[in-house]
Amino acid sequence: MKLATKIIHAGAEPDPSTGAIMTPIYQTSTYVQSAPGQHKGYEYARSQNPTRKALEDALAIIENGKYALAFSSGVAATDAVIKLLNPGDEVIAANDMYGGSYRLFTKVWERYNIKFVYVDTSDSNNINKAISPNTKLIWIETPTNPLMNITDIEAVASIAKKNNIILCVDNTFASPYLQNPLTLGADIVMHSATKYLGGHSDVIQGCLMMNDATLREKLYFIQKSCGAVPGPQDCFLVLRGIKTLHVRMQRHCENGEKIAHWLRKHPKVARVYWPGFEDNAGFAVAKKQMRGFGGMISFTLKDESIDTANKVLSGTKIFSLAESLGGVESLINHPASMTHASIPREERIKNGLSDGLIRLSVGIEDVDDLIEDLQQAIG
Ligand SMILES: *Cc1c(COP(=O)(O)O)cnc(C)c1O
Repeated sequence: MKLATKIIHAGAEPDPSTGAIMTPIYQTSTYVQSAPGQHKGYEYARSQNPTRKALEDALAIIENGKYALAFSSGVAATDAVIKLLNPGDEVIAANDMYGGSYRLFTKVWERYNIKFVYVDTSDSNNINKAISPNTKLIWIETPTNPLMNITDIEAVASIAKKNNIILCVDNTFASPYLQNPLTLGADIVMHSATKYLGGHSDVIQGCLMMNDATLREKLYFIQKSCGAVPGPQDCFLVLRGIKTLHVRMQRHCENGEKIAHWLRKHPKVARVYWPGFEDNAGFAVAKKQMRGFGGMISFTLKDESIDTANKVLSGTKIFSLAESLGGVESLINHPASMTHASIPREERIKNGLSDGLIRLSVGIEDVDDLIEDLQQAIG
């Protein structure tokens, strides 16, 4: 079955009691048993909920995985993966990644003696060099947020397999429409479903997908024991959101491509970061592992002053100045002071994330209106 059909029908069975075509929102905390232990597979809603199950079935299918688990946020899903580890274990993580993941690793998990080594994962040799006998997990993001660096998932997966290390890929930016890390050899895929999967800026949620049954058991145990589960209403929203994922992503890609090229030609723009430029260092890998290049774009202005960047950030009328991404509406963001403020300035600058960098989440509005909006804001 092709992706567009799977996206709409995955996990969706008409409700057995009424025939309702949409999965009902099972707003219940518990389930009645006819005798102790006599139930229909549902005991308590932290462990099982039919709305969540329909969503998890759909999520597994669209990411080409056998299993999926939904969490109350993207960082809760990330947190669950780190809980697979023991004190003393080491993680190799990308040096250019979502600020909230960096904060979780450095400010929470380092206190429990989990060690994180940050490397530029776009060169897989750096990963090879960082491996120690204690390395148990490799955590990558591709394209990265916000610099759109590309890591070769297949190459890193083969390094991980050879060394018996779990590879987890944060696939939030690409979405399952553009890239399927499990197919490329990753062990776990993580998504902030808040972004493209939900797609309508109305829900916070995260998920993990995997193929290995033992890994699924361990992560399910963490999901129910630690309790960061999404409610049924939120599961319904994501379930509804993913039904249009392919149509939305197609338009995000089209609009993204036009705006990236337009920005690149703009006389006031210094540099544009977008995975689809043929002269990018990561282009060959991006082309190999992605089906399109998405609607996330970052850029810097030739005038690097914060004041000039601020004028653009506050000057757009259709692009809203806000954190987050992946919704139908276009957003503009200042990573240094917003999404990535939790990364110390020195670290940020070292990794190429300058004070003046502007990030766009290109929505699915008419692209001519979006370009006109950017034109009047950049001046
Ligand atoms: C937003 C985001 C997260 C965190 O997800 P939440 O749903 O906000 O908890 C993780 N990774 C990436 C790439 C993100 O954009």
